[in-house]
Amino acid sequence: PTAPSVLTMNGSVNSHFASGANQDFEHGVQIVDEDKNFNEQMPQYLQAEGITKAGFNYHLISVFGSQSTGKSTLLNYLFGTEFGVMSERERRQTTKGIWMSKNKKGGAKDGQGRCMAENILVMDVEGTDGRERGEDQDFERKSALFALATSEVLIVNIWEHQVGLYQGANMGLLKTVFEVDLQLFLKNSKNVTKSLLFFVIRDHLGHTPLANLKNTLMQDLERIWSGLSKPPGLEKSKINDYFDFAFVALPHKILQPECFEQEVAKLGTRFREGYVDSKKAGLVDDADDPVLLPQYHRRIPADGFPMYAAGVWEQIDSNKDLDLPTQQELLAQFRCDEIAKEVLLPFDATIAPLEEQQSNAVSAGAPIVIAALGKTLGGARELVLKSFEEEASRYHKGVFKTKQTELAAKIDGRLKTLFQGQLTAAHKSGIHDFSEAVSTAVKAGQKKGGNYDFYKIVQTEKQKSIKRFESEAQASLVTGTPWSDYKSQLNLYQKEIDEVSGRLRKEEMRRLATRSERWVRSRLGESIGMEFNKLGSGRAGSGAPEDGEKPSEKDLWDRIWSVFTDTVSHAEIRFTERARSFDASPDEVEVGLWRLRRKSWGALRDKIDEEMMEGNLLLKLRENFEDKFRYDDEGVPRIWRPTDDIEGLYTKARESTLELIPLLSRFKMARTSAPPPLDAWIGAPPETVTAADEEDLQPIGGVDEDEGRSLEEEMTILTDSKRQDLATRFKKTADGVYVEAKRSAIGGMTQ
Ligand code: GDP
Ligand code: MG
Repeated sequence: PTAPSVLTMNGSVNSHFASGANQDFEHGVQIVDEDKNFNEQMPQYLQAEGITKAGFNYHLISVFGSQSTGKSTLLNYLFGTEFGVMSERERRQTTKGIWMSKNKKGGAKDGQGRCMAENILVMDVEGTDGRERGEDQDFERKSALFALATSEVLIVNIWEHQVGLYQGANMGLLKTVFEVDLQLFLKNSKNVTKSLLFFVIRDHLGHTPLANLKNTLMQDLERIWSGLSKPPGLEKSKINDYFDFAFVALPHKILQPECFEQEVAKLGTRFREGYVDSKKAGLVDDADDPVLLPQYHRRIPADGFPMYAAGVWEQIDSNKDLDLPTQQELLAQFRCDEIAKEVLLPFDATIAPLEEQQSNAVSAGAPIVIAALGKTLGGARELVLKSFEEEASRYHKGVFKTKQTELAAKIDGRLKTLFQGQLTAAHKSGIHDFSEAVSTAVKAGQKKGGNYDFYKIVQTEKQKSIKRFESEAQASLVTGTPWSDYKSQLNLYQKEIDEVSGRLRKEEMRRLATRSERWVRSRLGESIGMEFNKLGSGRAGSGAPEDGEKPSEKDLWDRIWSVFTDTVSHAEIRFTERARSFDASPDEVEVGLWRLRRKSWGALRDKIDEEMMEGNLLLKLRENFEDKFRYDDEGVPRIWRPTDDIEGLYTKARESTLELIPLLSRFKMARTSAPPPLDAWIGAPPETVTAADEEDLQPIGGVDEDEGRSLEEEMTILTDSKRQDLATRFKKTADGVYVEAKRSAIGGMTQ
């Protein structure tokens, strides 16, 4: 576009580059140029003037009238604008296209404390009856339509001497305005609000009172209206259905400059917001009435106005039917998307780092519970929705609602992921901490001597853990959302805590079992050792047991069995008590006891085998023999004399001791001569026994059927070859003792 030369009020020449990026807006902004191009600078202009964020708190006013009737001059006086005006010398058309400027006055209060409304935008529209454009009606129609679609007040500027000149150029202009307004109504019946036509009569000499001028004008307007060919359906419509009217007269600016300025100042205060009595509808009549009435406002939010204006102009310029609802919906869609993007920026700044933190933690396998997450998320969510509502709710309601739902779904998707990630993290770390805490407490208990209450430990930690999970979940709740609920996750958590507790209890059972086994082993080590040691004393007698007074050698296995079963049942009682104390199930106890019996049998066998090691056994047999041989029945050591029946005593003692070998070689009960009822005593494996429970168990002959060994075999302590070997070696030892005795008998005699 060419740079229009604009002559300012004082005649100096300024150049304006409508498309310049860094345009200064000293003279406002040219929104439509002389070639009917829409200028894209309006957003920058509104931004620079601080109107963008004003919402609905702004106003639009246009001026209409013949060329060179002092329109721009009036606006400049009225609003402190700097629209170009014709210089006195050149008399050329100045205003080209449509210019816009913000009211630079305002703030100043009149005598009654009233002042102009904030954010008044004034559009100076090129007059079209000028010589230079000739009969170009096109721009006139288009600019009129544009002004009607956007402006609350249309100032119609007219010389006093033109009033009543029905054929004059002004009347042509007004006819155009009416026509395009009807056209607009036809297309948008529900969506076009009334405009105020504010007639400003210039160079009022004062001979004719304003009231008369007003009447004349109204008559003319009615005539024009009735002369219009109205579209079908609107034939009966009245001019007041579409317009309100106001009138004011101004003195001659050049002849009465002071009066002119005074009146203009007065006129200025009428550009304020207010209400007018509904009785006066159609005529904003009093010289004092405000003209910026709410019903004239187009309700296009300020930040969307440039886009709306561009869309409207585009439709008008391409001679399309101006469909305002569609324009408003398009605008709403575009702006709502823009606003959504804007409000998502701070949201992203808050949420994205959390998302990253969480996903990093997940990939590192170290779940992180973010503190006060719910508050952060809730705050971010509320801010987004509040900001969006604040900005976007001014736009088309339906579009706004849809976009609001979309936005909420979008952010909630992300927030929900974070929330659930948080619950997962709380779950994982909670379970981990719980089992750690129990283990630590158990270890501490073990250090203090093992007398700890496992059940209490688990219950305490369980309660703590669930409480903690709940409070972490609680602190993650996002207020105002139906999806941030943790009931089912809490259930899952409790379930897993119970599972883990079960596992920990099993471990504790194992520890208990180990302790019990160790206890049994050490007790057997002592008591069984003692039974074997008794063998060393041969005078224990080899006959039948006599009232339990002196244990007989024949009863050895019976005593071992009963010491063994007594010990184990003692351990069983303690095991059961302890296991019950931490809530082990009867099944678990049963399995534990079964294992304990088997392991105890193993311990007994180990102890017996130890005693039966060749050296040990030989020593015991020798002691046994010596005891019988070298002591008399009263327990007094014999002093061998040659007359003694050494040989007889020797043979008797040797035979008696030799009888021990077959006795020792098989674990059998004296009375029945049968093996002890080991299979019955151990019992069948409990039904609930698992493969893991059986994994570390030694097979036992006669108990484990598929083992292929009989109970007899299990009870075999010494094999036949071992027995013979033992007998031979024992005899040799005994022989040695005998020889020694013989010698000592002889030696005693010689002494
Ligand atoms: P526009 O084309 O309607 O914008 O008219 P301008 O504001 O450019 O003014 C056109 C001419 O009218 C200029 O020479 C002004 O000095 C002159 N003018 C402005 N206001 C008045 C007025 O109130 N009375 C008279 N007689 N002339 C005026
Ligand atoms: Mg002008």
